[in-house]
Amino acid sequence: SQLETTILERIRDVPDYPKPGVVFKDITPLLADHTAFHAVVDGLADGFEADKVVGIEARGFIVAAPVAYREGAGFVPVRKKGKLPAAVLEESYDLEYGSATIEVHDDAFSPGDRVLIVDDVLATGGTAAAAVELVRRAGAEVAGVAVLMELAFLKGRERLPGVEIRSLVIV
Ligand code: 5GP
Repeated sequence: SQLETTILERIRDVPDYPKPGVVFKDITPLLADHTAFHAVVDGLADGFEADKVVGIEARGFIVAAPVAYREGAGFVPVRKKGKLPAAVLEESYDLEYGSATIEVHDDAFSPGDRVLIVDDVLATGGTAAAAVELVRRAGAEVAGVAVLMELAFLKGRERLPGVEIRSLVIV
């Protein structure tokens, strides 16, 4: 589709970042193009009905905030451990080496809120799966996960059974 082409042309492959052997998908050229950025925000928001949009630190924030604005939904940050000021729920997940912990304020959602989780890239799915757990433990309902790009070879989808996933581009 036109949108897929727009995205693919504006995501830059950076070899050996953040470590040797990894090809990092750099979204900054896409963000810098207002027409493309606008199309991406519309594409992520279209058809989801949400009360809240969750953005995952840090690139997720950039995309999730305009999605929330467009949806007429509130914005909720999911952050790395230790960054949120008030009482939190936390969820840890395994990385290739070690683990990571993300947090959300424990009063971020109203009971039954429908929540759209937005991030830039779905890779192994560990981050998105942990965000799904946080939303559910906080008493809300996951409407879906929406990402700009899905790296299919990392099989992130398999860690999100039963969750509607919208990827604007799958590579
Ligand atoms: P996962 O937990 O699915 O393995 O990794 C997804 C998280 O790591 C997302 O928050 C995403 O921002 C980041 N990430 C992993 N690989 C890439 C990449 O190649 N490009 C970008 N932009 N983010 C990535």
